[in-house]
Amino acid sequence: MNLELSEEQEAVRRLAKDFVDREIAPHVIAWDRAEEVDRSIVKKLGGVGFLGLTIDEEYGGSGGDHLAYCLVTEELGRGDSSVRGIVSVSLGLVAKSIAGWGSEEQKRRWLPGLTSGEYVGCFGLTEPGTGSDAGNLTTRAVRDGDDYVINGTKMFITNGTWADVVLLFARSTDAPGHKGVSAFLVPTDTPGLTRRTIHGKLGLRGQATAELVLEDVRVPASTMLAPEGKGFSVAMSALAKGRMSVAAGCVGIAQAALDVALRYAGEREQFGKPIAQHQLVQELISDISVDVDAARLLTWRVADLIDRGLPFATESSQAKLFASEAAVRAANNALQVFGGYGYIDEYPAGKLLRDARVMTLYEGTSQIQKLLIGRALTGVSAF
Ligand code: FAD
Repeated sequence: MNLELSEEQEAVRRLAKDFVDREIAPHVIAWDRAEEVDRSIVKKLGGVGFLGLTIDEEYGGSGGDHLAYCLVTEELGRGDSSVRGIVSVSLGLVAKSIAGWGSEEQKRRWLPGLTSGEYVGCFGLTEPGTGSDAGNLTTRAVRDGDDYVINGTKMFITNGTWADVVLLFARSTDAPGHKGVSAFLVPTDTPGLTRRTIHGKLGLRGQATAELVLEDVRVPASTMLAPEGKGFSVAMSALAKGRMSVAAGCVGIAQAALDVALRYAGEREQFGKPIAQHQLVQELISDISVDVDAARLLTWRVADLIDRGLPFATESSQAKLFASEAAVRAANNALQVFGGYGYIDEYPAGKLLRDARVMTLYEGTSQIQKLLIGRALTGVSAF
């Protein structure tokens, strides 16, 4: 793989860096405290093309390859993981699934709005009783004439209260295929669908995370994405690419940890000299830097494999596993560099750590990534 970025990729990275410094960085503390990022950020993200990366221009997308997508995701993760998550879900999990599996009609119905930021998408897989064991979901879609009637509850849904459309996974009656799960594109204003914001999150506080309750939600059969019974394949293919996106966001967190630790270590003096001159502080900083580079290289490898049309799912699990744990370590080391100030939210390290922590949990916990990697290597499922 060529690690040198092309001119186009460098330009996208610069654009993302400027966007983060101008539109996100000044508001990070306020959004975190208010438990909500300013919703106008979505249209701004769409305006610069970040919600349409890798999607065909024909459907309103801004094209580009997966490495460019990673570069933007890294920068957004460096700025605010709450904003990064909006893109990773609305574009990464929802729009990309529609682009990959959707009918012409579904692409024309949803992609221009999702890529411009007029619409927000959310991904409804997890339920109160099924997280890691997602294939055992209990939401049911029952065929009734030309419609399906859906009942169930979805938990921890990123963008949930903001979303205009939910890519919803339900067990459809008599569906053939893996576990009989089907995917539906359900407009969130459909009668019977109610949403409740989940407050009090440790991190990603600016993000609209919600519980969705579906009571006799009636949708036309034409809202089904991919053939009946293929829903689990839709979910797993979305998550395989999604894990690269989470990993890239973690690279951004680790990079931010390095940036702020370096700056603070150069300014703060103890024992008559900048703390950067103490060997044990240098150890903290060098450990962060190794985590940044190792996580970045694993993540870029996934993008490279996707762009070359090669298998990438195991490498994506490896990148997500390593980068998420690395982001937690890096943010924690940065907090240590800040001493007591690291514990106060006026300083950046604490938020980085709080935001990093969930990365080892969602889109498959670290344990689940290890089982996926183990299964690929040994050929034996230990789930
Ligand atoms: P559980 O599955 O109950 O796991 C609990 C513990 O058991 C974990 O440590 C886990 O690793 C371990 N464990 C489980 N099974 C095994 C096993 N076989 N072997 C070893 N250990 C095991 N979901 C969505 O569908 N859409 C979203 O947009 C979304 N956004 C989220 C945003 C946030 C902020 C959070 C917190 C979650 C989000 N999720 C979303 C849900 C997330 O993907 C799940 O929380 C995650 O998959 C874990 O499921 P669980 O919480 O039910 O934990």
